[in-house]
Amino acid sequence: MEIAFSRLDERVAKFTISGVSTSFANMFRRAMISEVPTLAIEDVRIYDNTSVLFDEMLAHRLGLIPLRTDLKRYKPRSECTCEDAGCPVCTATYTLSVEGPKTVYSSDLIPQDPDAAPAEENVPIIELATEQKVVLEAQAIVGTGKEHAKWQATTACGYKNYPEIVIDERCDGCGMCVDECPRDVLESGQGRVRVVEGKQELCSLCRLCERACLAGGIGNEPAIHIDTDETRFIFVVESDGSMPVREIIERALQYIQRSSDDLVDVMNDITGEGTE
Ligand code: SF4
Ligand code: SF4
Ligand SMILES: [Zn+2]
Repeated sequence: MEIAFSRLDERVAKFTISGVSTSFANMFRRAMISEVPTLAIEDVRIYDNTSVLFDEMLAHRLGLIPLRTDLKRYKPRSECTCEDAGCPVCTATYTLSVEGPKTVYSSDLIPQDPDAAPAEENVPIIELATEQKVVLEAQAIVGTGKEHAKWQATTACGYKNYPEIVIDERCDGCGMCVDECPRDVLESGQGRVRVVEGKQELCSLCRLCERACLAGGIGNEPAIHIDTDETRFIFVVESDGSMPVREIIERALQYIQRSSDDLVDVMNDITGEGTE
């Protein structure tokens, strides 16, 4: 297996994994979406709410605000010694005290722990008219996307098969496929068409080039052939800001490794029992 990054910054990663099956690619995608823990608001104590939103809707909106998550600092409540009581090891606390007229943003949510502040400052929560008030306390806990989407650390996470573009010797460089390609992947010159250097990954597999070639009257088979490499995948992963995208990738891979190790242990136990 090989992995090559074409982009890796705080929020976005684009990389190619080679030498794996579709099942592995999908397992990896699902692990990044569903198995990487993050903080999200779970409990809200509302002291005053004279806004146009019901308490439940307000709590729901608060739950969807991405929160910066340091997993070395926060444990899931199920692993904490406080037995569901809520303590600084498993719970981040926030207060919100606002009065209209005002648009309330995520930056109005004041965290007790600055390291667990909202990942974005400008997420709108509610519009308050004159004399409308919201006063509340909120508690965030660690969870995973498989429990609820509010605990997903990714905003986008997908893959596609690596495109393969083959141009055969019948190509006369007429350029019809070049004009048709919506991603500007192709260029013509010296009587042939070719892939623009570094642009192959941008091919969306739409096959408009094949159709254009056929429309030019070349016969039953186009001179350009679009296919996919079944063992090579291009991933694009975006973090919601709760943690660097690199950490999401690493934690998803650790989850897969842990699950495989657990399965091996179980198999060894079963085999051990069977031979005793
Ligand atoms: S399949 Fe679509 S995107 Fe890819 S080269 Fe052909 S026209 Fe362009
Ligand atoms: S349309 Fe067909 S023949 Fe014309 S340049 Fe493209 S591949 Fe070659
Ligand atoms: Zn606790």
